[in-house]
Amino acid sequence: MADASELIAYEKYIGADKAEHLSRVSTASTGWSIKATNNKLYAIKFDSNFVKKHLYTSTKKADTVAAKAGELYAAAGKPQGKSAADFMEQARQLLDQAKFKKQLGHRTQEEQQICGNCNHERKKHFTGSGGPLPVPGPKCKQPGCTCTGWSEKTAYADARKAKNKPTVNPLAGATTEKNSVIWLNKIDRVTFEKVIVDSIIAKEATLAKASKTWDAGGEHIDWDFGAANKGCVVYFEVGQSPDQWLQKQGVEVLIKQGTPMVVNSPVYVVVHMEKKLI
Ligand SMILES: [Zn+2]
Ligand SMILES: [Zn+2]
Repeated sequence: MADASELIAYEKYIGADKAEHLSRVSTASTGWSIKATNNKLYAIKFDSNFVKKHLYTSTKKADTVAAKAGELYAAAGKPQGKSAADFMEQARQLLDQAKFKKQLGHRTQEEQQICGNCNHERKKHFTGSGGPLPVPGPKCKQPGCTCTGWSEKTAYADARKAKNKPTVNPLAGATTEKNSVIWLNKIDRVTFEKVIVDSIIAKEATLAKASKTWDAGGEHIDWDFGAANKGCVVYFEVGQSPDQWLQKQGVEVLIKQGTPMVVNSPVYVVVHMEKKLI
């Protein structure tokens, strides 16, 4: 059965190595059309880098998975009656866990923005906000730090720029060391789309009944993918080992109403993942 990872779109780009590669289409350019049971065509869009931050997918590198399975098979002493193929599932899981850890790492201050001289954060160098930054940057206010001037280091964006990736920083925004993600490969596409659209229709009905309109600041909505899909939502923090990661079945999101361009095609914009887990 087709899983929900199909919904993630990719664009081609020519890398610094002159070869063609694929990169995720940016969150701002991502949009899904989902036909609902009420026959309306719902346009689901995203903001604030939601797609890149919270919709995770398994590795697509089949060669790497096969190689890892071979390694695991060998490490297990090539048990009789088994082959490398029996280690594929475990190999995929290990590679996905490593991928997820790496992706959360990209959202930390360490990779987003620190002082390249002393590794301290921006606010240790600057107070207040706005206005052009002085050159050389101010020295560090962290007690004991001998840094004499801010030198911006944006490791994640720099690495992507060096590879020619079309979106330089698809994770721009507040930095974090914890994250809730929906693991799209763990849920079939039809179920996923139905939960999303049904949750919006249910909210529309509740509001209509109370003679209310969709809050301009967004409405809080639960996406519960059901007990059968437990594990399709993962909560984890930097430094945790995968056995500490929480396996859940749903999340709460904040959704704003967009402006429809066509009759019977409501537009909704998913803007934020809340802390609540289901
Ligand atoms: Zn510094
Ligand atoms: Zn410092």
